[in-house]
Amino acid sequence: MNYSEETRATLLEKIQAAMSEKRFQHVLGVEKAALFLAETYGASKEKASVAALTHDYAKERSDEEFKQIIRDYGHDSDLLHWNNAIWHGLLGAELVKQELGITDESILQAIRLHTTGAAQMTLLDKIIYVADYIEPGRDIPGVEKARAIAREDLDEAVAYETKHTLAHLIDIEAPVYPKTIETYNRWVAKK
Ligand code: GDP
Ligand code: FE
Ligand code: FE
Repeated sequence: MNYSEETRATLLEKIQAAMSEKRFQHVLGVEKAALFLAETYGASKEKASVAALTHDYAKERSDEEFKQIIRDYGHDSDLLHWNNAIWHGLLGAELVKQELGITDESILQAIRLHTTGAAQMTLLDKIIYVADYIEPGRDIPGVEKARAIAREDLDEAVAYETKHTLAHLIDIEAPVYPKTIETYNRWVAKK
């Protein structure tokens, strides 16, 4: 990948234009965390940077736009019954590809999986999933513990985040996307 300071600056401009200042700061925090994890666990820093910067690119798109994408791309119509939380990564990856010209499939997959995780995750998928949760600007209960675990064992960090996200969804009686359950069964549940 040809990733220079200039490429990054151009990407940053487009990302900043697509979101609020608050979300842009979150994205920069995720990049910081992702670079640390890439360094710690031996992943490509270029890919970690691009995936982190673009993971929430589509988060401020309207529900109507996502519903149009579901219809246009022939996705299962069940997806129409979900919401921005599930759509912005899963479908946002397509917008990252089209609008930002990022075609690397490993980066697009990390974007698609960043909210729910998956039973099968690559190192990059895990890095983005965990970095999104532990970035320096996050202030969720247990985030310090999550950061400490992430410094020691990335799979344990995936498990910790998955367990706490699912517990939170149950607490607020939110619908749980099936892939979130698959992630729980693979990374948290004792066999
Ligand atoms: P963000 O985009 O940086 O805010 O973080 P995420 O993409 O990880 O999560 C977005 C939202 O989706 C958060 O509020 C999560 O709690 C929520 N979320 C994660 N998994 C699920 C799920 O299975 N169902 C629902 N309804 N929400 C979920
Ligand atoms: Fe997100
Ligand atoms: Fe995020």
